[in-house]
Amino acid sequence: MHAGRDLGARSPLAPDLSTAAVHVFTDLDDYDAVARGERPGHYYGRNSNSNREMLERAVAELEGAEAGVATASGMAALHGAILALVPKPATIVATRELYGGTAALLRQDLEPAGYEAQFVDLTDLDAVRRAIPGAGLVIAETITNPLCGVPDLEAIAAIARERGVPFLVDNTFASPLLCRPLELGATVVMHSATKYIGGHSDLVAGVIVGDADTMGRARARTARTGTPLGPFDSWLSLRGLRTLDVRMRRHSENSLALARAMRSMPGVARVHHPLMDDSPSYHVAHRLLPHGSGGMMAFDLEGGRAAVQRMIKRFSLVTFAASLGGVETTISYPEITSHRSMSPAERAELGVGAGTVRVSVGIEDAADIVADFMHALSS
Ligand code: PLP
Repeated sequence: MHAGRDLGARSPLAPDLSTAAVHVFTDLDDYDAVARGERPGHYYGRNSNSNREMLERAVAELEGAEAGVATASGMAALHGAILALVPKPATIVATRELYGGTAALLRQDLEPAGYEAQFVDLTDLDAVRRAIPGAGLVIAETITNPLCGVPDLEAIAAIARERGVPFLVDNTFASPLLCRPLELGATVVMHSATKYIGGHSDLVAGVIVGDADTMGRARARTARTGTPLGPFDSWLSLRGLRTLDVRMRRHSENSLALARAMRSMPGVARVHHPLMDDSPSYHVAHRLLPHGSGGMMAFDLEGGRAAVQRMIKRFSLVTFAASLGGVETTISYPEITSHRSMSPAERAELGVGAGTVRVSVGIEDAADIVADFMHALSS
């Protein structure tokens, strides 16, 4: 609640919104010192802004990092982090079950620019040991998208560190309230703040945090490429952070309640939740996410796309929306949303089929959420 703020006498309790694109100076030496970062202050909005700075400090503090950089989206954060961590040419080893947008960035933008992407099952530590020696960077997600596996970040970090390979973790699904990957050995952590940090599906934003050197490089590039986060989205993200703790507790409780109830719902072939005892990640998830795993889960519905379509039409509270992490319960259909850039064969290899539905469980009353799924599936 208090991260990123320094309140003194007569400070506004809610931070002022500073929309100024540029600040006025009366002294050339003063401008020079601020532009060099030797004196606090702001001179041009693409380089820094007070609302963005508050958000960066807050997320860095929550993740236990030296510094942070807030960007125009999670994808801009990821791109900035990759370029700050590893110059080309380099092989980027990424989790096989990766957010489709990240896979597309690697394949469609970074491979043509001189990087090579290698997709590996990071829950298989032998595969990690085989892949890391030739790698320039490893990318993992704390909770994978969409089937909610949890790779052993601590073990991967140890293997990467032994070989001097930087380790980037997309901590979007867990948020800094449930997992702090830097403490487990990660080099840099990124968030799509669009999701749990913002929490209300009303902004698009990204943040990366890590050591001051790497963040300095990322900040300079973000300014050069013109991808920093705007003042209002920074302000909204910081407002979201204030309630992250209570939201994540409720998301975690509700997703477990729904996952348990869903096991006996009609048409449900399989439930994917990291903290359920049939999850392949059960033991790792309990170790890395002792306070809950947030609102993300998935299930496989018998009857494929037609059955998913019928279910959507029968919901009265749950909605179909291609994002996650908001206060309302939403479902997404990876085949045409997050994983549409993959071929059917690639999706099948991951276990994502025509009946796979991802659920972002919200903070409504758990009984209402369970009842809505029960009603939708009972047809
Ligand atoms: N990482 C994960 C795990 C995501 O789910 C997403 C978006 O869905 C992103 C990154 C990209 O974030 P943004 O949409 O804010 O660019």
